[in-house]
Amino acid sequence: MLAKGWDYVVIGAGAAGCVVAGRLSEMLPAARIALIEAGRERLGLTTKVPGIAFIASTFARQNWNYQTEPVPALNGRRLSWFQGRILGGSSSINGMLYLRGHSLEYDQWAQRGCQGWSFDQVLPYFKKAETNSRGAGEWHGDDGPMAVKQSRLDLPICDAFLAAAGESGYPVVDDLNTDVVEGFGRIDTNIGNGRRASTAVAFAQAGRRRGNLDLLSEAIAARIVIENGRAKGVEIIRQGVRETVWAEREVILCGGTVNSPQLLMLSGVGPPAHLTSLGIPVALDAPEVGRNLQNHPSYSLRYACSQPVTAYKYLNPAAAIGMGLRYALTGGGSLAESYVATGGYMRSDPSLGYDCGDDPGAGDAQRRRVPPARPIPGAPRLYRVGRFGSAAQPRTYPAA
Ligand SMILES: Cc1cc2nc3c(=O)[nH]c(=O)nc-3n(C[C@H](O)[C@H](O)[C@H](O)COP(=O)(O)OP(=O)(O)OC[C@H]3O[C@@H](n4cnc5c(N)ncnc54)[C@H](O)[C@@H]3O)c2cc1C
Repeated sequence: MLAKGWDYVVIGAGAAGCVVAGRLSEMLPAARIALIEAGRERLGLTTKVPGIAFIASTFARQNWNYQTEPVPALNGRRLSWFQGRILGGSSSINGMLYLRGHSLEYDQWAQRGCQGWSFDQVLPYFKKAETNSRGAGEWHGDDGPMAVKQSRLDLPICDAFLAAAGESGYPVVDDLNTDVVEGFGRIDTNIGNGRRASTAVAFAQAGRRRGNLDLLSEAIAARIVIENGRAKGVEIIRQGVRETVWAEREVILCGGTVNSPQLLMLSGVGPPAHLTSLGIPVALDAPEVGRNLQNHPSYSLRYACSQPVTAYKYLNPAAAIGMGLRYALTGGGSLAESYVATGGYMRSDPSLGYDCGDDPGAGDAQRRRVPPARPIPGAPRLYRVGRFGSAAQPRTYPAA
């Protein structure tokens, strides 16, 4: 039974939800905040140790494991769609890359009606959120809850990759978060003291220590209770029991790209014809809910390397044990680094502009990041096999 009442009920303890709940707890010490999370609370090793973080998303229990519908433009292929289902959400299973996106994108959001989202308006929040190992300055802050540090993964292929970028005519920069349009460098990562800096660690846990933030984990939000046009509470299912969490002030939905619109629709907020066809009573006619999603495909190009320059060497048991011992004793070494160390932005076609205009061709080719080598278990011993992933930066436009 949920005897307790809360002022704010935040749905989803992911990247956004932990920040919202944590900041509310900090700014309103007298307020009582409930944070509802479908996943579990315990953060295992793969969600903490940066060097093995690439397997965090492969555990079915901490991932919603979605598959897309067949994508017409990809010959009808279905794609895997990862989304974290654990305290910290996707920020507990993601690649920890800290790349802000270009100012042009934020400015276009603002021009399209998203008040408060121009780059000048969001930059102070980026700075406020981070403690960047570079220290405070024009681009960075040094006393926020979220740790950020530049990748220092010590592999020859990282330096070779940057040298090749330079030889190809791209600027090689020290800091990719200085509004770089095209260029390559070592990527900043959400890592502090050798550990992943998820929003769970940076924001939610601090709120819980303050005593006014309660986490309801392994609780699925099934419906937002709407009375007289206002969200009053959230129906949750926990351990098979359905109960209602009431909010004195606000319900804040942070369930992620897929689950937020899904929960809105389950609550009667969405396109009326669609809701009615599923027997869901309409609470609000909102035709755009569940539409207009944009995302970017991520793909890998794999190369066989003739030199032992990649992370392949860590597959050797002696090296792996040495690396583990070093991490256990000092918290440092390769395990304390992200597996994606270098990258940058480029256009796939020089004729494309830099702005995010309405030309759909410009969007997906505007910027790319290229992670460095990763080992591929089971690869022929003759070769150290490197892997270069590549993904366009997301260009999603939040609705005005
Ligand atoms: C594998 C992977 C790698 C990534 N790599 C990077 C990277 O390196 N750098 C980067 O910037 N971004 C990366 N991203 C993207 C980034 O993590 C997401 O954009 C970000 O976490 C989205 O935040 P969110 O709060 O919207 O959703 P999430 O962080 O996914 O949080 C949503 C939360 O809501 C919970 N939830 C959903 N529905 C319900 C419900 N009905 N009831 C209760 N709880 C619910 C979920 O369990 C989850 O915890 C990556 C994402 C993934 C999955």
